[in-house]
Amino acid sequence: MLSTKINQLSKTVLLRKLLIGNVSAQSKNLHGIVAGCYQAPGEDGELVLTGTTESLNTETGGKLLQALNTSNFDGKPGSVRTFTNLSDKYPLLTVCGLGEENLDVDENECLDERKENVRIGAGAGAKELKKYKVDVMSLDDCGDAQSAAEGVVLSTHSFQEFKSKKKNETSCTFNVLSSAQTSEFEHGLAMAEGQNWARDLMETPSNFKYPELFADKVVQRFSAFKNVDVIVRDDVWAREKGMDCFLSVGKGSDKKPMFVELHYNQNADDQKKVVLVGKGITFDTGGISIKPSSGMGLMRGDMGGAACVLATLHIIAKLNLPVNLSVLVPMAENMPSDRAAKPGDVFTALNGKTVEVDNTDAEGRMILADALCYADEFQPSTIIDVATLTGAIDVALGGAAAGAYTTCNNLWQNMEQASYTTGDRFWRMPLYKHYTEQMKCSLTADLRNTQKKARSAGSATAAAFLKEFVTIKSWAHLDIAGVMDNSGGELPYLNSGMSGRPTRTLVETVRNIFT
Ligand SMILES: [Zn+2]
Repeated sequence: MLSTKINQLSKTVLLRKLLIGNVSAQSKNLHGIVAGCYQAPGEDGELVLTGTTESLNTETGGKLLQALNTSNFDGKPGSVRTFTNLSDKYPLLTVCGLGEENLDVDENECLDERKENVRIGAGAGAKELKKYKVDVMSLDDCGDAQSAAEGVVLSTHSFQEFKSKKKNETSCTFNVLSSAQTSEFEHGLAMAEGQNWARDLMETPSNFKYPELFADKVVQRFSAFKNVDVIVRDDVWAREKGMDCFLSVGKGSDKKPMFVELHYNQNADDQKKVVLVGKGITFDTGGISIKPSSGMGLMRGDMGGAACVLATLHIIAKLNLPVNLSVLVPMAENMPSDRAAKPGDVFTALNGKTVEVDNTDAEGRMILADALCYADEFQPSTIIDVATLTGAIDVALGGAAAGAYTTCNNLWQNMEQASYTTGDRFWRMPLYKHYTEQMKCSLTADLRNTQKKARSAGSATAAAFLKEFVTIKSWAHLDIAGVMDNSGGELPYLNSGMSGRPTRTLVETVRNIFT
């Protein structure tokens, strides 16, 4: 009976393999498994095993459940126990906690708790099991194969490109134990691999990704995709176009600004087209209004918006989703020098509006202004821009959610729904005329790039500034400065470092628009 069950299990094993790190097959071929377990309902209840874990428990003659109880395992999300040689098939068996069973959407937490717990649980289990240097890791789908794949691939990733000695870099093959879950698992893998690419791009030191190198990375990455057109524009093109606000930011650097656009059209409904615009400041010193030196190294991630929109397209193209999507990425390095823009300088945007630069550190909105105007040329039905725009949004929301500003309630509902699903949340912020008025305080130009009252509403006024360069109703701006990195352990399934957030929510949003 036992062996029959296990045989059935092994027959359905494996649908999709994912290789991490160095793929050379090791001779020992150590096989481990991550299996899920829910909390006991009530104080005196028993732990609730998933179907996979139940099978394993049967195989071990009930020893697995005994061992879990002996080790005071509580099944809370993120708690793990690893047992060696308890199962014949899996010499290393990690059980991960999934929290309470049968959870659903939590309206106060604004997320699907069941899915999020699977990400946290499977992620913690895989991270733990990876320490044992297993060659093959089998995964319980924990009732949601996509979320399990996301948790596993996100939690086991770290950026080690510049380490001469790589930590924990064993080759490991992941497989999921349920044949019915193949496409969900694949979907989760693509989502997490895409987000990991965004994390890597953000983490890459700025001397390895100034605009020209960043553009090269994009071209290289998408060269394998026949369904994506990549166009790289230089500063000469931008000058001819009249993108003076964009060009003003890179003036102080000897690294020339670049503007990359990518197009993917896989939906017959040509009335629907989404344009994503990502802020691509490859390093932000603040310019002449220079930033304090403490923590300035983090400003290598000031192209986080660009990284997320590029990763979004990467995932969509990989999954061949039926959407029409263009991605625009203005890239520049913000440096002080004798050529740099100065406070008081005035520049004209593509739509003819003039902007007084009051603070050269408010540069993101300058490059986005022209990119948003340019987005109109593609006659989109929706535009979403994504930017590590203001420290103020970090003060307001921290790493819990990206600040979302939109003039369209339908688009908001769509975005909110998407963020419930992914657990990478958006929180809606206001776009009152009040804030627009705050940005019309220049004596010399139509707009100023800082608000009238220095300390007040830094994120909302920045959003109001951007609105001046948008002509369609279905527009949203995401201020992602607060979710840029995970140094405070904001999401348990991401390591410390750049986060690649909110890539998965953007994918889900674009998908929703076309369904
Ligand atoms: Zn800045």
